Amino acid sequence: MAAQETVDHKYVYDFSEGNKDLKDLLGGKGANLAEMTNLGLPVPPGFTITTEACQAYLATGREPDGLAGQIEAHLESLERAMGKRLGDPGDPLLVSVRSGARFSMPGMMETVLNVGLNDQSVVGLSAQAGGNDRFAWDSYRRLIQMFGKTVCEVPGEEFEHALDQIKSAKGTHDDLDLDADDLRGLVDAYKKIFLKHTGREFPQQPREQLDLAIRAVFESWNAERAVLYRRQERIPADLGTAVNVVTMVFGNLGPDSGTGVAFTRDPASGAQGIYGDYLANAQGEDVVAGIRNTVPLQELGQLDRASYDELLGIMARLEEHYKDLCDIEFTIERGKLWMLQTRVGKRTAAAAFVIAGQLVDEGLIDLDEALHRVNGAQLAQLMFPRFQLDHEFQPVATGIGASPGAASGTVVFTSARAVELAAEGRSVILVRRETNPDDLNGMIAAKGILTSRGGKTSHAAVVARGMGKTCVSGADEIDVNVPAKRFTVAGQTVQEGDVVSIDGTTGKVYLGEVPVMPSEVVQYFEGSLDPEHIDNALVRAVHRIMTHADGKRRLAVRTNADTGADAARARRFGAEGIGLCRTEHMFLGDRRELVERLILARAPGEREAALAALLPLQRADFEEIFREMDGLPVTVRLIDPPLHEFLPPLEQLAVNVAVAQERGEDVAKEEALLAAVRRMHEENPMLGLRGVRLGLVIPGLFAMQVRAIAEAAVSCARDGGVAKPEIMVPLVGAVQELETVRAEAEKIIAEVVGDSGVEVLIGTMIEVPRAALTAGQIAEAAQFFSFGTNDLTQMGWGFSRDDVEGAFFWRYLELGIFGISPFESIDRDGVGRLVRIAAEEGRAARPGLKLGVCGEHGGDPDSVHFFHEVGLDYVSCSPFRVPVARLEAGRAVVETGGSDSR
Ligand code: PEP
Ligand code: MG
Repeated sequence: MAAQETVDHKYVYDFSEGNKDLKDLLGGKGANLAEMTNLGLPVPPGFTITTEACQAYLATGREPDGLAGQIEAHLESLERAMGKRLGDPGDPLLVSVRSGARFSMPGMMETVLNVGLNDQSVVGLSAQAGGNDRFAWDSYRRLIQMFGKTVCEVPGEEFEHALDQIKSAKGTHDDLDLDADDLRGLVDAYKKIFLKHTGREFPQQPREQLDLAIRAVFESWNAERAVLYRRQERIPADLGTAVNVVTMVFGNLGPDSGTGVAFTRDPASGAQGIYGDYLANAQGEDVVAGIRNTVPLQELGQLDRASYDELLGIMARLEEHYKDLCDIEFTIERGKLWMLQTRVGKRTAAAAFVIAGQLVDEGLIDLDEALHRVNGAQLAQLMFPRFQLDHEFQPVATGIGASPGAASGTVVFTSARAVELAAEGRSVILVRRETNPDDLNGMIAAKGILTSRGGKTSHAAVVARGMGKTCVSGADEIDVNVPAKRFTVAGQTVQEGDVVSIDGTTGKVYLGEVPVMPSEVVQYFEGSLDPEHIDNALVRAVHRIMTHADGKRRLAVRTNADTGADAARARRFGAEGIGLCRTEHMFLGDRRELVERLILARAPGEREAALAALLPLQRADFEEIFREMDGLPVTVRLIDPPLHEFLPPLEQLAVNVAVAQERGEDVAKEEALLAAVRRMHEENPMLGLRGVRLGLVIPGLFAMQVRAIAEAAVSCARDGGVAKPEIMVPLVGAVQELETVRAEAEKIIAEVVGDSGVEVLIGTMIEVPRAALTAGQIAEAAQFFSFGTNDLTQMGWGFSRDDVEGAFFWRYLELGIFGISPFESIDRDGVGRLVRIAAEEGRAARPGLKLGVCGEHGGDPDSVHFFHEVGLDYVSCSPFRVPVARLEAGRAVVETGGSDSR
């Protein structure tokens, strides 16, 4: 039975048998060729060998049983349909053999054209082409060249060299000047090259040509460049490619033939219209090689009205059918239009929104589908400032858009110089061949980073993205000379101190300062562009889709903010409260000295005095925030700094004391300070005296904050506002810690709020693995949980969050240990599991327990989907990510098929 199944297994599909939903089996190209065939569009007949056949071949090193017979049968029916035979000396059928995987991998795999030509059929082809000998011999030499290179690994340069020799003998640089005799001579030369490298004659049997070409396409799945590309694009390694065998059609048969590409809408802006390029008397590979210049597609209307009109009709039909922007490849052979490929086309972020909006207007899709077709990463891209480019600015190099944004600044080549100039208030661009951890300070100081080497996962790229800093990596046209403090590009030299501009979205590099344009989408979120009253397709589409996302989402979106200004901006961006107000930020600047006194207090009353001085300052901080968030919940986290952040650096202090002692100065005070700092010095401050531990060790500190929060809330209520404070205790690992803090806090709250009507909740962060694992106990003492996924990731993985991303994550990404930094996107299996356990056990112990997340992951698109799945009540993120989180929270509902509406 098993053997029978193997023999019967279907490995080959005629185009009339497949459809667009069979991409896993037929690859993108094959599935769409089948779809077009079934729509009755003019697709050259052919068939597709499945990805399963490729997988079987790659696993065993030989074609699976039954494949050869199925190819034979499909070939016969193709020959019947075309009324021609492969290898027929009088009227040969020719086919192309093309790769086509599930995901587009442009230029990564192989194609062989004109399979079926040999010493006899070349004559027949010429006769078929109306005695066009030149065309026939040119087709034959292309076959030998492509077949030799692709199937038999003959070095491509050898063929190019032979072609150059014939051209120089003729005194020309142009292939088109070669006549039929020249090309016949070239075929001889190519055959000799083939024999020299393979030890055999060029195969004259068309079926052998076909089988070897198919095998070569299978094998090209594992070519080095394809493997690298897949790793970069995170395409699974085991999918394999399908192989399409397609009847050849020729765009190079004369002026009434040609080839082109088309888009049904502008893939850059989304604008409706006809976009594309056409090249008369040419084959697709000539367009790619850029031998001659293409003309805008509209000009085909003058050259061949009938084909042009037919093409427009097909484009409209495809759009309506796919309900999306399509891109198309076509060929015209002597006035007859043929469709060679279509697919749902790639587009820019702006076009994605605009097109989704248009398709809703046209009734082709509904708003749920429109929401599904855009994403948070695109929205985030639209929120970066962009360069205002006019013709004056031409890029001098193009690298990889490694971290989006637009930055102009003075060129520097070392980290130290970047720090120096930035300290003077200058914008700098740090230019390096590649960066390493020693460049960290320079990267922090710079406005943007430009490297000549490295891809999207290079050190520079990973670190820049982590910092939200513009970065172009791998701009290899740039030759960087650090010791000489200059780089050269396109024949120009750029010295330290010159200005360059880099676009981290497109990867383009410009000389001089390019003006920067603010994002219209941000202006809309800020409320300064009214979508109802401006003629801006992008803003209107964003407005419409965001409104729909808000209506759909179940997750609320809050913001992380600790100033009134941030709170106000986030509220304009749609935040529905504050999920994390980090109070330690309120203890910096002028107040640092008070905190130092508080921590180091020795004399009686010293601590109380420092706390008394801090209380009114803190009260004012909270009043400002409560006012901005009037009516919305505000989670205030009690102080959580690693202690060393408030103390003078140990080494500096030791040096100062030693120098002063040497000079015979009175150093009693400094010595006392030094002794205290030494006493409190921690090897691992992140795992040391911070969070709730600090609150339990320094009497009165948390109490002062709780009082300030309660007093500020009461004062707002007295002024007619509504403050909804939620006090959050950081770094709790055991319920007893929370109980201790809570007992003291409740007393203070009761005393302060009296009958003012203010209600204050007390909850905890879940950011220590032990807290997640004992969430059932902790929930007994907590009115809410907020997941601190930054620390949970740090402690879950044992990764120092301040060090590892710059130190070695690039290597982990390169090796595929993870696809994205776990500090950027939640590690669902590990850290995510801790979140899931804590959510379930917390809610089991206290039904209805409010759950949120306030780590960086709260604004990461994929993580938002995870938090939706786990059933949290809200995510909290930095103000600029609030719109992204709103959009993704809506998408999470439509993608899980829910109709959840709040
Ligand atoms: C966290 O750990 O996720 C968190 C929000 O707290 P912080 O980043 O301030 O440690
Ligand atoms: Mg934390």
